[in-house]
Parts: sequence; structure tokens; C-alpha cells
Amino acid sequence: MPVTLIAGGVGGARMALALHEALPPGELTVIGNVGDDCEHWGLSISPDLDTVLYTLTGRIDPINGWGVAEDTHNLMETAISLGEEDWFILGDKDLALHVARTRRLRAGEALSAITADVATRWGCATKLLPATNDRQRTWIATDTEELPFQEWLVHRRAADTVTGVRFEGVPEAQPAPGVLEAIASADRIVLAPSNPFVSLDPILAVDGVRAAVCARRADTVAVSPVIAGKAIKGPIVGMLESMGHRADAIGVARYLAPLAGTYVLDAQDADLAADLAELQMAALCVPTLMADPAVRQGLAAAVLA
Ligand code: GDP
Ligand code: CA
Repeated sequence: MPVTLIAGGVGGARMALALHEALPPGELTVIGNVGDDCEHWGLSISPDLDTVLYTLTGRIDPINGWGVAEDTHNLMETAISLGEEDWFILGDKDLALHVARTRRLRAGEALSAITADVATRWGCATKLLPATNDRQRTWIATDTEELPFQEWLVHRRAADTVTGVRFEGVPEAQPAPGVLEAIASADRIVLAPSNPFVSLDPILAVDGVRAAVCARRADTVAVSPVIAGKAIKGPIVGMLESMGHRADAIGVARYLAPLAGTYVLDAQDADLAADLAELQMAALCVPTLMADPAVRQGLAAAVLA
């Protein structure tokens, strides 16, 4: 059965792997976030797309959840010795992908075509589509200023309180080829346990994407990125609080209720299932910590049932 996943970085990639392992080859399409994309040392970097690609092709660094396993940092160390910035960590193997992508973008190829070609070369049967080929950039509003996403997340370690999120390039950004079709034609649409504000929202903000998912609400399943009031990693709980939402799995459910008719709570949050009824969301309760392969399998089976 054709399935379409809407995914950010680490939480998105883990869900992508769960579905990729569960489905026959070629039945999964992943629509990935490009709001985190940035330019560093003149290179075009797509961190969330790469996290999905590295995870699905067995390259991912299992400790960080991003970057390439056992990568070296020769280029970065040498660049730092020349006075270059040291806060955005780029391994040598990772850099090779950025070099190739940057060259091809400059030669006029679309990001979607480059991403598809890399996936094919690396033997990945799952289709990976950037939400848009157009330039889209996430900006984070704090109490005092607005920061580019990576400046806020990586350089300042998400220490500044978030008061709002803005997507540069919207509403002009158009869906990449295949994005709307993948949503309209899938038997099931899955919203990954990704950060709703900075991973799912930039995808949904691309022209026509939110409406396309809303039109499929009955077939859409969202998975909670929050377990027992905590993130597995990342700034989501602080963002829920500072932007006026309930800081638990139900806070995310309320935010996603217009999009998804079914919501997966972690088994630890079974007591919250009753709160989903008023949101007109069906509840599924299963373990969702996907580092464990058996949990991945169980979660994929629940989402696809
Ligand atoms: P990022 O772009 O790397 O920040 O990743 P995403 O936005 O895709 O995902 C971040 C969210 O994934 C965090 O809020 C985590 O709590 C959540 N997450 C990571 N791994 C898991 C997991 O195994 N299970 C669940 N339920 N959530 C996860
Ligand atoms: Ca991200």
C-alpha cells in the first residue's frame, strides 16, 4: 500500500526507517523539511533531508542521530586552524554530499532531482522528496530578536526562548514535483513524531500542502514526539510552553488535530487517550521509542493497520 510520510530530521528519519522496513520496496514516499537548510562555507546544506537519507541507507551516526557514523573531521579541523567558524559540525563524508549537492544546484539542477539521484545511487528504494525546490528558510523569533534557524539551534544551543516561528519564502514556495500527488494518492499519510513548529509546519506551509493533508484527515495518522511530558531530544517541550500550548503529548495533538484523524500516544501516556476524543482523534497507544527495532516494527504495524 502506498504510504506518504511527512518528516523532519531525527524523529522523522526514525519513523521513515520504521515504515521503510515494514513496507515492500518503493511503497514509501517521504516528504522532507527544507526550512532548516542553510549555507555554510559556501555549501548548500539540507540537514533534515540528509538525516533521512543517512538513516535509510545505514550511514547515520547512531550516537548523534545526525551525520555519518564514524566520520572524520579533517576538513573542519583544518578550516578552524585557518580561522573559520567552529560551531557547525561537518564531517568529511557528510561534506562530500554537500559539495556534490552545491555543485549540481549551481549547475541548475533542482534539489528534488539531486536528492532522488543520491537516493538511487545509494540503493534507497524509498522516495525522498523535498517539500519544495524553492528557497524556504525558518526564522526563530525570541524575546529580543529574530534568528536564522541554525543560528538559534546550533550556535546558541536553543537557549533563547521562542516566541514565534516564520518561514521565509512562503507563500510563494511551490511544492516539489510529486509532493501533492504523494499526499492525494497514498492509502495512508503519516505525520512523523517531528517537531510540529519547525519540522512539520514548514512543509505544511508550502503552497497547497496543508490543504492537501487536511483533505486526507481520515487517512492521516500523527505520532507524538513527546513521551511523558518529555522530548526524546530537542527543544520541543520548551517551545510548547513558550508558545502557549500544553507541554505534553496532548498539546501536540491539539495542534495537529485539523490534519490527523488518528493520534499515536506512547504507551507511557495511555492515561491521556481520553483527551483525544474531544479533538475527534482516534487514539492508538503503543511503545514509540524507535531506537529499539522491535518497537519500530510494532509502531509501523500500528500506524499501517
Ligand atoms: P530534528 O529536525 O532533528 O529536530 O528532528 P524532528 O523534528 O524530525 O524530530 C524531533 C523530535 O523527534 C523530538 O521532539 C523528539 O522527541 C522526537 N523523537 C526522536 N526520536 C523519537 C522516537 O524514537 N520516538 C518518538 N515518539 N519521538 C522521537
Ligand atoms: Ca530539523
